Amino acid sequence: FRSFFLDKFGMYTDRTFLSAPAAGTDKRQYHTFAEIFDQSVALAAWLRAQGVERGDGVGIAGYNSPLWVTAFVATHLLGAVTVVLNASLNADSLIHCLKTTVPKVTLVDAPVAETLAGKYNDKLKPHGLYCYTPGKAQSQIKQLPQIRASPAQKDAVLRTELNDLGPDSDAHIFFTSGTTGYPKAVLSTQRMGLSNHFSAMFPASIAALRKGMPVPPLPTAALPQKVHLLAIPMFHVTGCLSWLIRGINSGTKLVFMDRWNVAKACEVIVQEKVNLVGGVPAIATQLVQTDLLPKNLDFDGVAYGGAPAAARLAKDIKERWPTASVQQGYGMTETNAYACGIAGDDYLSKPKSTGPPVPICSLRIVDPETKREVPVGQMGVIHLRGANIMKEYVRDPKATAEALDADGWMDTGDVGYVDEENFLFIADRAKDLIIRGGENIPSMEVENAILRDPRVSQVIAVPIPDKVMGELVGILYTLRSGAKAHEKSILEEAHPHLRKVARPEIAVEYHEPNLPTNANGKFVKKDLKHHVIGAWEERQKKP
Ligand code: ATP
Ligand code: MG
Repeated sequence: FRSFFLDKFGMYTDRTFLSAPAAGTDKRQYHTFAEIFDQSVALAAWLRAQGVERGDGVGIAGYNSPLWVTAFVATHLLGAVTVVLNASLNADSLIHCLKTTVPKVTLVDAPVAETLAGKYNDKLKPHGLYCYTPGKAQSQIKQLPQIRASPAQKDAVLRTELNDLGPDSDAHIFFTSGTTGYPKAVLSTQRMGLSNHFSAMFPASIAALRKGMPVPPLPTAALPQKVHLLAIPMFHVTGCLSWLIRGINSGTKLVFMDRWNVAKACEVIVQEKVNLVGGVPAIATQLVQTDLLPKNLDFDGVAYGGAPAAARLAKDIKERWPTASVQQGYGMTETNAYACGIAGDDYLSKPKSTGPPVPICSLRIVDPETKREVPVGQMGVIHLRGANIMKEYVRDPKATAEALDADGWMDTGDVGYVDEENFLFIADRAKDLIIRGGENIPSMEVENAILRDPRVSQVIAVPIPDKVMGELVGILYTLRSGAKAHEKSILEEAHPHLRKVARPEIAVEYHEPNLPTNANGKFVKKDLKHHVIGAWEERQKKP
């Protein structure tokens, strides 16, 4: 990371790098590559003065902002290990994450300082917490001073020779999204953290490599600048390792928002001339369905991943923005962003696939009982192996041993199958499979059938406990704005497209424009299924 930053920031110097709203306002402030780099060097000098040395943990807990980027770059200039905390967590979870990873210094923004106010545990105090938003310090959280470093101090940071810092040195800890339980702390090395980015992250290059075509040119300062709306948090591998690093690599202008909001996003897209939007399927879905964007907008690319994408999404995007390249990726915190990717014609012809594994990663589908690889087309547990797979779950050898076998294969906990071209089709998380009368029903099978109906905007399938069948299928959905439909008609429309066993027993409309997501843009089924189960139980009571 250190040489990568030195190289790239040295290359793009006075280009605009970040556009971000000034605290608490809609007014945008701009920062060049040189400015952010200079501030990062100064912050690194300050961290060093606090005793941070190569290999020490430095925590960052905040929403997207120039200071977040500065902190990430600063820690890597020292060869420290960045501990990237999820700013949306509650105090208990944040403290749990801090206790697991024990960073020497942690930099937090105002919302995190507020979350921790009064809850912060004295025992953690030696691992100093500093708030980097001016004027928002709390009793236990000191104010980060105005960072000023002398030329000599900055020089010392840049000149330090970190000879023992190499590809196998620890680089960062990210936390899983906590979709199925407590967030898990994932430690990765420099090689793991950057491997996707360097060798495999660009689906265009993947497709090119696979077909034996020349790979697109490496970015240089001479190419026209891309403008990317970075609307997902950088405290997740996709936002940071994929989008931030990709942006720094290609000299992209990154446009931040305070929080995701589709109306605001549309304003910003026009104002900043955004030509690349990326993130999670929920964001792409809202953008493609909104009336708030001008008709003549040309996007170069729409890219998303990290959660199931509707089979119709690629086509919807292509119809609306014919010049845009549409890309999707599948990955996990444990794979340091994308492990499989799909784009272009491949994606349009296989809209339910997340593509083949990236070149540095291998894929196998395994029978959960026999642990043997299953034939093409057959469903099983997805295993991945490659240079991008994490080193370990921090302080949890048991969980690490469960996930990683002696040959380096990682059990993803997801189920799916591959076709004859080794394109992956994800069916579900193993934990989310609905089992009705002994028959496995992957959520995505149900969800894609429901989404054939143009009136439906979003949907999740959830299990309903049942004494006879074990589980039944229920759905929770939202309608597109202006659409009207009775719950029964939603089910009738989908019936012909579903196996009998997979037909939902009940459909429940969620009367909001969008289903709620967690900070990483995922629908958290464990927190949403009560809407369906509650409605089902009510219905059973009626004579
Ligand atoms: P936790 O592990 O804490 O329960 P999480 O698994 O949601 O949370 P992440 O590492 O952010 O944490 O997410 C990885 C998971 O997201 C994958 O295992 C998979 O279930 C899902 N996922 C990622 N990309 C895709 C995709 N393109 N299609 C379908 N599912 C995806
Ligand atoms: Mg997970």
